[in-house]
Amino acid sequence: MNTGVGTKLAQNIIAQVQSAAETWTPQHVLAWALETFGNRVAISSAFGAEGMVVIDMASRLGKDFRLFTIDTEFLFPETYNLMDKIEERYGISIERVYSALSPEEQDKKQGMALWTRDPDLCCNLRKVEPLRRKLSELSAWITSIRRDQTSARAEAQRIEWDSKFGLAKINPIVDWSAKQVWRYIHDHEVPYNELHDQNYPSIGCTHCTRAIRPGEDPRAGRWSGFTKTECGLHIIGPAPLPAGE
Ligand code: SF4
Repeated sequence: MNTGVGTKLAQNIIAQVQSAAETWTPQHVLAWALETFGNRVAISSAFGAEGMVVIDMASRLGKDFRLFTIDTEFLFPETYNLMDKIEERYGISIERVYSALSPEEQDKKQGMALWTRDPDLCCNLRKVEPLRRKLSELSAWITSIRRDQTSARAEAQRIEWDSKFGLAKINPIVDWSAKQVWRYIHDHEVPYNELHDQNYPSIGCTHCTRAIRPGEDPRAGRWSGFTKTECGLHIIGPAPLPAGE
């Protein structure tokens, strides 16, 4: 862990609360995380429906909180518009984290349109490496993953040790359904990405996201044509190193 709290101590803290936390409300989990880690914890979000719920809940706790996003520089205009709305509505400044390579530098180094040939490498360069850099500043990160989104997320706990990145990982709505997420959004009039109303249940980069057709899995529009279902941020185990790094 990258703070005054050593890894062992942090793992002990997590072990003490992990099973009790499974019965806590998402708001209780968030309050505990902010209280325990202060400014060494931040919400990570790509501003999907789930992320909007977590951001809204955190704002209602009345405590300062940090929010960052991995900006691949390939996001939809609707996503950038939503970021502006979030900053205005919640009075916060989103910390934007970029790849070490600009899109043009990536084209030069790896060839044009890497995402069509090797999306894992592209995600490593544009998402995983920047995330690793950001998380090295923190003691804990807050995500909005849900267990039923992908098989890689099925075993996630509300509060857990992230062995891939070496810090605490807080998943306040891990046991929620998509229905609960949307009920919260409507009940609290939370802003959301307009693309959700155009059959985009899961939204990432423009190059790798399409609208889904009736009856398709909600994540079928991500990396369509590849077996890939995750960008690598929530998969346990060492990430493959970007080529040449
Ligand atoms: S989602 Fe696609 S374009 Fe975005 S970083 Fe991953 S492979 Fe590259």
